[in-house]
Amino acid sequence: MVGTLTKEAASVFDYVIVGGGSAGCVLASRLSEDSDVSVCLLEAGPPDRHPLIHMPMGIIWMMRSKVLNWNFYTQGEPEMGGRRMFWPRGRTLGGSSSSNAMCYLRGHPDDYDQWAALGNPGWSFADVLPYFKRSQNQERGASAYHGTGGPLNVADLRSPSPLTQVFIDAGVQAGLPYNTDFNGPNPEGVGPFQVTQKDGRRCSTARGYLAPARARANLTVITGAHATQVLFENNRAVGVEYKHQGRLQHVRANLEVILSAGAIQSPRLLMLSGVGMPGNSNRSASNPGIICRVSERICRIISMSCWYRPVPGRSPMALPGAVFCAAGSICCVIWWPVAGCSPPMARKAAG
Ligand SMILES: Cc1cc2nc3c(=O)[nH]c(=O)nc-3n(C[C@H](O)[C@H](O)[C@H](O)COP(=O)(O)OP(=O)(O)OC[C@H]3O[C@@H](n4cnc5c(N)ncnc54)[C@H](O)[C@@H]3O)c2cc1C
Repeated sequence: MVGTLTKEAASVFDYVIVGGGSAGCVLASRLSEDSDVSVCLLEAGPPDRHPLIHMPMGIIWMMRSKVLNWNFYTQGEPEMGGRRMFWPRGRTLGGSSSSNAMCYLRGHPDDYDQWAALGNPGWSFADVLPYFKRSQNQERGASAYHGTGGPLNVADLRSPSPLTQVFIDAGVQAGLPYNTDFNGPNPEGVGPFQVTQKDGRRCSTARGYLAPARARANLTVITGAHATQVLFENNRAVGVEYKHQGRLQHVRANLEVILSAGAIQSPRLLMLSGVGMPGNSNRSASNPGIICRVSERICRIISMSCWYRPVPGRSPMALPGAVFCAAGSICCVIWWPVAGCSPPMARKAAG
């Protein structure tokens, strides 16, 4: 059933943002820079207080946390012998940026240029580069491809494992170009990733963007608030229903309802609200294009297990730390297109 806003809607804001993840924290921070507008951020998960979130090696535990991760599984995949694939997603302020591998990668410039060529003005790599530069604080300093002074700290690894260099050397010997900057003019080759960390701690969007904005009087952040549907009046989104402390609540948006609940849950929330699924409701018939075919896009990562025996007194790190750091810092990834669910593609499909 499609929801409508009820009289007892308690709170009214200009913007209501659903999902306090990578995108949601950036939006909440940027929108609330204007003190004339009010912003409400709804996040289903808890605040990002757990120490393992901020400790880079905590990713091992974060990946399977029952509280801080949604722990999704796909349906049985015919191409995978019927196996269900694990699909982790962060569930706390910062979202997946609070539990991801922290590799700072913008994506291939050609993909952006292709989106622009498909009829999406403003999405070429030259168009988006200024925003990437504005968002980052590149510890190596500013350049044609990098910015300083932004909220997202980008650093070199502080303690790379000896295995990392061995792996990179092997790639170079095999003929791959050595690359020290995958966000520079050429994003291909083998080399160490840079990471979104500051002083050895994870720099999620909750830390980089949201934390400095939390004191603003025009920004309200509600954690433990699980949005259950978007509310409509005359085919216009005007609010959100969410569950908080066991009770259903309504919040109204004077200007915009923004869905930033991630690639799985934003479409899911639309479907729960009667939008986008053919046959789901009357409204869906007029918006069939918003469905992203996530299942058709796959990113394959080749991983290899290897062991490093530290030499007492000479090795900088002990096992197993070295093994985990190597896994996090080695760049030998073969990319398949993962751009299918991009905003411009979705917009194009919808238009
Ligand atoms: C394990 C892992 C490793 C990764 N490693 C890297 C990496 O090294 N480098 C890189 O660039 N990218 C990496 N990524 C990908 C990157 O983290 C994501 O693409 C990015 O965080 C997605 O941002 P988002 O805002 O779309 O969603 P998310 O950051 O996932 O945010 C969605 C938020 O919405 C909340 N939410 C969901 N449903 C609701 C609801 N109904 N009501 C309220 N709130 C809701 C969620 O709890 C979450 O906080 C990784 C991802 C994962 C999972």
